[in-house]
Amino acid sequence: MNTRDLSANIPYRAGQGIEEVARDLGLDPDDLVKLSSNENPFGPSPKAIEAIEAAAADVHTYPKAAHTDLTAAIADQWGLSPEQVWLTPGGDGLLDYLSRAMLSEGDRVLAPKPGFAYYPMSARYHGAVVESYPLAKENGFAQTAEAILDQYDGQRFVYITTPHNPSGSEMPLDEIETLAEETDTETLIIVDEAYGEFTAEPSARGLLDDRDDIAILRTFSKAYGLAGLRLGYGLIPSEWADAYERINTPFAVNLLACHAGLAALSDDEHVERTVETTRWAREFMHDELNAPTWPSGGNFVLAEVEDGAAVAEAAQKEGVIIRDCASFGLPECIRITCGTEQSTRRAVSTLNEIIGGD
Ligand SMILES: *Cc1c(COP(=O)(O)O)cnc(C)c1O
Repeated sequence: MNTRDLSANIPYRAGQGIEEVARDLGLDPDDLVKLSSNENPFGPSPKAIEAIEAAAADVHTYPKAAHTDLTAAIADQWGLSPEQVWLTPGGDGLLDYLSRAMLSEGDRVLAPKPGFAYYPMSARYHGAVVESYPLAKENGFAQTAEAILDQYDGQRFVYITTPHNPSGSEMPLDEIETLAEETDTETLIIVDEAYGEFTAEPSARGLLDDRDDIAILRTFSKAYGLAGLRLGYGLIPSEWADAYERINTPFAVNLLACHAGLAALSDDEHVERTVETTRWAREFMHDELNAPTWPSGGNFVLAEVEDGAAVAEAAQKEGVIIRDCASFGLPECIRITCGTEQSTRRAVSTLNEIIGGD
């Protein structure tokens, strides 16, 4: 028995969870600071926890009304029709759904390098060939239509990440519009706004009124603190939004996720606290870390050290878990998620001891 040829598919290796690291170090998980996965350091919204508890007794039923209610609430928030909101299992699920809806065997897609690992994975799962455009460290990972168009040659998808993971750079809205304008009518620009809550820049939502070649990814995993529930969504042009029914895995977004998402949406206080603390932590890291950093619109900061893996390993021994960026092709960099005030201060002082200097 053989699988189909999967040799081009690269396995995704998640970082170690906090429990595993604690066990390895013989420490209590509560004594560790995990700033490696851009998760919400305040946890989920208390309202979401309540909603999950309340919905627990209903998990013998398929999620139907809850799915409809959450879709309506999101549509309302963005001023779109419910049809234009595609609920998906995580933002990653949206990437799959767009692949299902759009890609045919042998189609080509254009993804940023360095970039988010799941773009090429999802495209390859759906038979596409992955090409890349560079975001140059020397230019501060600047994202311009011109630089992307240099590499563009009729690909079916162009992935944009703004704010960009792992660099934190952003693509101005007029650049996104120029890119959409200059690419073929059958090229979809996927604007990944997984970190959209943390930036002061406007969403690409405004472009959906006049264009049918842009889709926007949003997620509950980051600012809303629901990463473990796997809940994301797409904002989709009305022209082809009805494709959802034809490609959706029935009930793929689970009942608890729908209820928690609805509750989290109504908890402005939780999101505001998260965003405010993130902005403080970004500034603190820029100012206090003994390493060059890049401006970030996300809930993380990229820093240049000599050997990212060595710094990450040494920090982990001290109970501070951060991300070394070798897998992004940046072995000289580390990415630190914005924590609470306390955990951010601890991470910076631990890292400064490792890095040295003053
Ligand atoms: C976290 C993230 C996502 C979505 O993650 P999900 O947990 O699947 O919602 C998408 N794009 C980028 C760049 C991310 O960092």
